[in-house]
Parts: sequence; structure tokens; C-alpha cells
Amino acid sequence: MASHAYRPAVPCSAKSSRSGEPCRAFAVVGTTVCVSHGGAAPQVRKAAARRRQQRLAEERATRSLAAQGVQPLGDPLVAFRDLAGQAIALKDFAAAHVAELEGRLTGHDAKGTEQLREVVGLYERAMDRSGKFLADYVRLGIDERMARLTEAQAVVLVEVLDRVLARWG
Ligand SMILES: [Zn+2]
Repeated sequence: MASHAYRPAVPCSAKSSRSGEPCRAFAVVGTTVCVSHGGAAPQVRKAAARRRQQRLAEERATRSLAAQGVQPLGDPLVAFRDLAGQAIALKDFAAAHVAELEGRLTGHDAKGTEQLREVVGLYERAMDRSGKFLADYVRLGIDERMARLTEAQAVVLVEVLDRVLARWG
């Protein structure tokens, strides 16, 4: 399977220093600016590469989950509850793997550049998402409307996440 996903070209967010008009060039992939507005700078490229890596990891995870039949249901309440459950399971999953790093939150890429490990970024985003889901969950009173996830569903989710991790290597 191709390792890249289609993304529309993004216009450069800078303005021309001469005319003051918005720049008409396209941003370097993964950044918001074109080459002449700093898109080729090492730190910008590095950040872009990291975001690209994270996005690919999430796309791989999403594909794995979809391929294994974990799909939202038609009922929005059920779908919301399942999404919230998955967000929290993903957060717990990432937390466990961050804990295994024992404080070694950075690693080195092929060029020897120090990088925050992918799972740390995944954990941060999973925390954010879980927080939002929980806030909505309480606000919408979903607990009162819905039965909790059954044990069986939770076990299936954990198995799926384990397989996803195995693919990440
Ligand atoms: Zn530009």
C-alpha cells in the first residue's frame, strides 16, 4: 500500500515583503510556508517531518482499526460512546508505552537528529482528545442514556490496539 495519502496543496501563509499581498506560492508539504518564506529552514523541515510521521502513524492505525471491523454505528449516541471509549483506550495505551520509555522521551532518527518519540506526541494528542470527550460525555449526560461498554467490547478493543502496536514496531 502507498505510504502517502493525498493532501491538497496549501498556499503559503506569508505575505510578499514587497507588495504586501499574500504569497502565491504553495507551502512546503507539512508546513504553512513556501521555500522562499522559510519552508526549507532546518527546524521547519524537522517539525514538518515529525508531523508527517505522526500523521502517517495515525493513518496506519485508522486503517488497521477499519480493516478489523471497528466502525462507528449508526446511532450517534452509540457512536459517540464508542469514540469516547476508543479515545480513552488509545490514551491508556499510549500512556503505558510512554511509561515504558522510563523518561527517555526522545530518540534519534536515521540522521542522528534528536526527536521526540512518536508515542509521546500520540499520548499528548490522545490526552487532549480524551479530555474533550469526557467533558462532552458529562455535559451530554450520556452515562444516563447509555449502558456502559460491555466487557466483551473492551476486550476486542484492547486486542485491536495490541495488533496496531505490533505493526508500528
Ligand atoms: Zn511564500
